[in-house]
Amino acid sequence: MNDTPLDFGDPADLDDLRRRFRAWLAEHPLPERGADEPLPTFLHRWHRQLHSGGWVGLDVPQVYGGQGLSTLHQVAISDELGAGAAPGIPRIGYLAHALMEFASEEQRQRWLPRMLAGEDVWCQGFSEPGAGSDLAGMSTTATREGDHYIVNGQKLWTSYAQYSGLCLLLARTDRSAPAHTSISAFALPLDRAGVTVRPLRAANGDDEFCELFLDDVRIEESERIGAEGNGWPLAMTTVSYERNALDTGHISKYGLLVERLRRAARDRRDELPDGLRSEIGRCFVDYEVLVAHAARRTAERLAGRTAGPESSYDKLLMTRTEQRLYETALRVFPEELFGDGGNGAEGGELFGEYLYSRAASVYGGTSQIQRNIIAKQVLGLPSAR
Ligand SMILES: Cc1cc2nc3c(=O)[nH]c(=O)nc-3n(C[C@H](O)[C@H](O)[C@H](O)COP(=O)(O)OP(=O)(O)OC[C@H]3O[C@@H](n4cnc5c(N)ncnc54)[C@H](O)[C@@H]3O)c2cc1C
Repeated sequence: MNDTPLDFGDPADLDDLRRRFRAWLAEHPLPERGADEPLPTFLHRWHRQLHSGGWVGLDVPQVYGGQGLSTLHQVAISDELGAGAAPGIPRIGYLAHALMEFASEEQRQRWLPRMLAGEDVWCQGFSEPGAGSDLAGMSTTATREGDHYIVNGQKLWTSYAQYSGLCLLLARTDRSAPAHTSISAFALPLDRAGVTVRPLRAANGDDEFCELFLDDVRIEESERIGAEGNGWPLAMTTVSYERNALDTGHISKYGLLVERLRRAARDRRDELPDGLRSEIGRCFVDYEVLVAHAARRTAERLAGRTAGPESSYDKLLMTRTEQRLYETALRVFPEELFGDGGNGAEGGELFGEYLYSRAASVYGGTSQIQRNIIAKQVLGLPSAR
């Protein structure tokens, strides 16, 4: 993550873990992606490979299929992956945390080991056509009928639902109660009768997004996660972990690009305009702020603090760093605008990354919403009238 090690009271075995992981990685390198292989299928193979080596869910207790180690071990492995320019562990950490906090013991043992092993792939069914930022305004309903629920509604932007077997679904179980106590969470198998998944193609050529249509879908009571009406805290916990700067491997991946830009600023000093060299300097500063911030978050997690509304700072810092980095990199390496980015879209790999970076200020909650959360929930400022 950084050249200067910070003292978190590192477990003595951390260096050894990093060494063992690098050795394993040398023997089990990233597999080749097939010419027509969809990204999620490729990443799934990578997930399975990492799991077979024991490198997934390091901070998840062994009884749930993890390794029973600490956050620091998990962060170290994500860091090594990013620094090796390898894709991170598919982002299941935030779903796993939600299940660990809200699911029953029986459900944890049923779902977590299979999730970590990549045997069950999960997606996140929160957003709807009329409820993205205003998630509490969702209109999908789950109406109780004895020992089961009947679900009706539509979800939107559900990433990679067409490659998933289960969906962490939010639905309204009580239309008369206030929004935040009327939403429940479910684990919905996507092969259930009444579920239709329709992929949508994005500007970068990727078919990440899906619409999910739910018509009289039966969900068993045993598939509800936590108590009825307790879906809102589960959702907030999920997005807080999703917005967290740790576990993603993104930071060390940014570090590789910052280093590339730093070298260009040095080696092409006479060629690059001053304005562009200043912009490289800003990228460097953003990156260093993010690294310091992540170090603080790691220390907090080790001290037992769970992710909360403060994660909105992480999300804003990551978004700012990522968007400035890719924008600047394309100006410094304009030749990478062209070529085959490997996903069927026009443009090179850097161009593909640039396009995806534009989505950072939207997914996981927009930047405006992060600022609202910080203002209200962290700083306690009054709402505007
Ligand atoms: C790459 C990507 C992957 C995604 N994956 C998933 C997924 O797997 N599952 C899932 O459920 N969702 C997913 N989403 C959806 C994402 O969570 C929503 O797009 C996001 O919450 C914004 O909602 P919206 O698109 O409905 O925009 P809107 O809520 O309609 O917002 C439109 C604009 O209005 C602004 N705005 C809205 N309300 C306020 C306010 N109160 N104050 C200030 N400004 C406001 C917003 O900031 C935004 O600029 C994904 C999105 C992206 C881009």
